[in-house]
Amino acid sequence: MNILVINCGSSSLKYQLIDMKNEKVLAKGLAERIGIEGSQVKHEAIGKEKKVYTDPLATHKEAINTVLNALVDPVYGAVKNLDEIDAVGHRVVHGGEKFAGSVVITEAVVKAMDECTDLAPLHNPPNIIGINACKELLPNVPMVGVFDTAFHQTMSEEAFIYPLPYELYKELGIRRYGFHGTSHKYVAQRVGNMMNKDIKDLKIITCHLGNGASVTAIKDGVSVDTSMGLTPLEGLVMGTRCGDIDPAIVTFLMDKKNLSISQMNNLMNKQSGVLGISGISSDFRDIEGAAEEGNKRAQLALDKFHYTVRKYIGSYAAAMGGVDVVVFTAGLGENSKDSRAEICKGLEFLGIEIDNDKNNTRGKEVEISEDGSKVKVFVIPTNEELMIARETKSLVK
Ligand code: AMP
Repeated sequence: MNILVINCGSSSLKYQLIDMKNEKVLAKGLAERIGIEGSQVKHEAIGKEKKVYTDPLATHKEAINTVLNALVDPVYGAVKNLDEIDAVGHRVVHGGEKFAGSVVITEAVVKAMDECTDLAPLHNPPNIIGINACKELLPNVPMVGVFDTAFHQTMSEEAFIYPLPYELYKELGIRRYGFHGTSHKYVAQRVGNMMNKDIKDLKIITCHLGNGASVTAIKDGVSVDTSMGLTPLEGLVMGTRCGDIDPAIVTFLMDKKNLSISQMNNLMNKQSGVLGISGISSDFRDIEGAAEEGNKRAQLALDKFHYTVRKYIGSYAAAMGGVDVVVFTAGLGENSKDSRAEICKGLEFLGIEIDNDKNNTRGKEVEISEDGSKVKVFVIPTNEELMIARETKSLVK
């Protein structure tokens, strides 16, 4: 069974075609600048020369059409014809309370996804556009929606409710939802396999540390708490997002600086985080480089980031009544040995001890805790596309 995984953004579209017999990627690529001048599809079928298609892509439908043509291209393609695509798995950002798991996409499902748009106005509309475009181009191929929020629907009411008037939860759905669920679920399942244990028997803290970042507490095999909330702005300090701040700052700044709602949103989402503190970059590599050269604000940004992740690990150990395993994943979590070491520094009291030699690793699945460490620590590269393909397979087969 070959599954096409589609992750549709506002002007870009990532895809992978995966052969589920052996879970091998047959082809992958990225359509960029959809609806903008200079659009292109960067395509690679594994074992073949890479190819860039520079057809103008006015709409997501045109982008998906170019992707489908690339997949069956006699020279650069991965399959002979489109009949070899058995199902399509779509990443959908927000499923609200409507979706606690992945679903086969029907008209009613698309309508329900659309009803969640208020909660993710930037993300859900392009996801839905991608789904509708695929439906037109591959009308007989089953499609599945896999939600970033679904894994966290197991949070208890005390974990997800905000201390605001309760009616706002009922009226507008103001509650904590959490994101990166596909990634947290994937690495949790993987660590269970690597430890030869059922994840139902483990207390796991997964740290997805990329440009967007979140920490999740997983107990009895399900998410019991996670650091992102109503939107992906809550929680950790991120590349450009502020994470947790005193909510009074919002009205104070809007008043003092005469900011509109969209300016304030932009400040918190695009100008804050480690970029805001360092004034240098949102990319941790640039910040680590500047800190090494003695830049104090770059060092402060890193210290604040590490301190915040450390606090979340401590609080989630408290929330679960202990912790057996910590997993690091995503761009920074997979690649930065210094960040992992700094985050774990001071957590020895919880039984978290990492081995500096084992920690000297990048982008590989590996245990990095000391032999006698009570809590095991792992680095596991995330694979959201494979997780989406697995969920799709389990629903359509
Ligand atoms: P992601 O959002 O998962 O793609 O992660 C992107 C983030 O990972 C960026 O801030 C990168 O700077 C960071 N990253 C990737 N590789 C490294 C590395 N070798 N050292 C430090 N940070 C890295």
